[in-house]
Amino acid sequence: MTIQITPLEAFNDNYIWAIHNDQHCYVVDPGQSRPVNAYLENKQLTLSGILITHHHHDHVGGLVELQHQHNCPAWGPDDDRIDGDVRRLSEADWVDMDTLNRRLQILFIPGHTLSHIAFYNDDWLFCGDTLFSLGCGRMFEGHPAMFVESLDKIMALPDHLNVYCGHEYTQSNGRFARAVEPDSIALADFCRRVDIIRKSNQPSLPSQLGTEKKINPFLRCHNPIFRQQLESQLNRPINNAVDCFAHLRQWKDEF
Ligand SMILES: [Zn+2]
Repeated sequence: MTIQITPLEAFNDNYIWAIHNDQHCYVVDPGQSRPVNAYLENKQLTLSGILITHHHHDHVGGLVELQHQHNCPAWGPDDDRIDGDVRRLSEADWVDMDTLNRRLQILFIPGHTLSHIAFYNDDWLFCGDTLFSLGCGRMFEGHPAMFVESLDKIMALPDHLNVYCGHEYTQSNGRFARAVEPDSIALADFCRRVDIIRKSNQPSLPSQLGTEKKINPFLRCHNPIFRQQLESQLNRPINNAVDCFAHLRQWKDEF
């Protein structure tokens, strides 16, 4: 029974991830119901459940309507700002995707929002707006130490995981990453491949976690050489990983 993971486009640059076999489907972060219903109808699939990473409207906007239409369970963060009949998760929990015979574990990764979670197993990581390819989410509610701790949890996961992010931001993140590391050949190569993929309107995701660990600036804050480079570029002392993250995040916000 093969499982496919398909990005459904929503709003300008959101991805709703559809995880399915030839009968049953789960969706991650349905900001809109329409693309989900269109896909279910087109592929003749039953909606078995809904997974939510965080409370932002572009990730939950379709939740209540889909649940009402399909009478399926939903799982998400323990956060009152999310409406619907949602099973509230914390880090020790898991989600059994019964109809696909898969289990997802939960990571608590606050920073973009205070209750943000990710879902992962041995193959996949659904990380919402915490980690993007070549970037990370804006720090709307958290603080740098919290965000670094969350990214450290992601860093501890195996390299071969496919990373399914909430937005197609890879090209613009790449422009920033190249400003941070203008001499990185691996980064330049990756960005060239992304440009080709995006030119043919294909998604740049999923990305591989091992690749992100090497070239995503926000995952490199523990690297002393990276910190030294940033120090000389910004011309100010950077004392530790949290400091490094804070300066990077601020630079990206203004970029
Ligand atoms: Zn968000």
